[in-house]
Amino acid sequence: MNQSAQLDRRFVWHPFTQMRDWLKREPIVIASGNGAMLRDEKGREFLDANSSIWTNLHGHNHPKINKAISRQLKKIAHSSALGFANEPASLLAERLVEAANRKSQIVNRKLGKVFFSDDGSTAMEVALKLAYQFIWRMRSAACPPALMKKHPPRFLSLDGAYHGDTVGAVSAGHIDLFHKAYSGLLFKTDKVMSPYCYRCPFNRAKPERADARDYRKCHFECVGLVEKKFAAQKRRGNPYAAFIFEPLMQGSAGMIPQPQTWLKQVSEIAQSHGALLIADEVMTGFGRTNSQLKINNSKLPLFACHAENVQPDFLCVAKGMTGGYLPMAATLTTQRVFDAFLGDYAEFKTFFHGHSFTGNQLGASAALASLEILQSPASALARKNLENVLRNELQSLWPLPHVGDIRQVGLIAGIELVKNWRTREPFELRERAGIRVCEAMAKRGVLTRPIGNVIVLMPPYCTTAAQMQKMVHSLREAVAEFGK
Ligand code: PMP
Repeated sequence: MNQSAQLDRRFVWHPFTQMRDWLKREPIVIASGNGAMLRDEKGREFLDANSSIWTNLHGHNHPKINKAISRQLKKIAHSSALGFANEPASLLAERLVEAANRKSQIVNRKLGKVFFSDDGSTAMEVALKLAYQFIWRMRSAACPPALMKKHPPRFLSLDGAYHGDTVGAVSAGHIDLFHKAYSGLLFKTDKVMSPYCYRCPFNRAKPERADARDYRKCHFECVGLVEKKFAAQKRRGNPYAAFIFEPLMQGSAGMIPQPQTWLKQVSEIAQSHGALLIADEVMTGFGRTNSQLKINNSKLPLFACHAENVQPDFLCVAKGMTGGYLPMAATLTTQRVFDAFLGDYAEFKTFFHGHSFTGNQLGASAALASLEILQSPASALARKNLENVLRNELQSLWPLPHVGDIRQVGLIAGIELVKNWRTREPFELRERAGIRVCEAMAKRGVLTRPIGNVIVLMPPYCTTAAQMQKMVHSLREAVAEFGK
């Protein structure tokens, strides 16, 4: 075992990892990367099949992003946004606003202000705190303080939701395995059913082995439940302050795609009840979900919300914002929310929140370069082609008896492993089906991480057709081996 591996085992505590298992093995020590390829210290090559936990967009060691960071590095790496502006952050804010409002028709909901932070969790914390304070200020103008205290602003999010690991983001989440242990530490957030069609309790959608999704009998019972939830909360005298969701595809819940129009319908319900919309595009943002791209249009839609023309009040982005190079995030919001925090200094309406690295120059430079690549017709075409390759390749997995469902939105795919495809009986988590399949893929030179029993494929946009085929091929072999 080389020195890095030894030091890792002695000193490093890895995220979301049972360290007893970790310490049994020699870790893969990544030394370099190029395009969709990662290389370890022993010189072995692996395909980065989940884009380094959903962050990387254009591949590793991209010359344009490298150049942008190097250029900035010659000037300054970081100065504080507490008290000072800087050029890359200002330019990036403008570019993000341009991209976020592409389909907006609602002038007073325009996302015109950008609050920078460090990662997906902090982007969500910012949205939660802003929404809470905004609603508190709106309502307290008409409501006595005692009643406000009894009925503080309350949030609704989706079953299985995951929005990060800081305490506020965890409060908005509903994955018992991650969140239950901290329940005493959290504020209460309600949950409502998400449209998990494969396990629809109303038995409406029937995905079949041939991938024929049958929504004919579906009357969007799940949307009806959202409506009911909003109505019940209104009757309690405390309408929901905000509705929190991942648009088009819920990631850590197990890659759960939303049937067409679900997003539009639930957003309209939330808005009709006066709730703010908080869109968590930490995973879905920056072109991950686009499938209907107009290749000749230079200003391509970059966000999942655009697919259904939903205009949120908060748009949270991170992961891919810097092309997956540096930790930087942003929460975009409206002038209306911004204005609620304006006042004389002594009114103390200031948004008292911020992080040391807010608006970091290196991150912003990487993000500007990444956006430029992303908005080029060549990148759009490559994404569209890769999406088709992925869709075609995934078909080859259906005959495997342990493949229950295959779900794809844009360049995100989740393959749900089951004990029995006829009954859809799930594996118990302790059987480690997902982990074992990913270990078998790693032996074949393909790296990804499962979500429980769901194997995730989320390739960098620069992945070649041959590399994409290898990712799916290794998954097919790994599942087949697991089933023996
Ligand atoms: N929201 C979503 C939808 C995510 O997928 C994640 C991370 N997987 C987060 C928030 C948290 O992001 P981070 O890990 O950068 O804090």
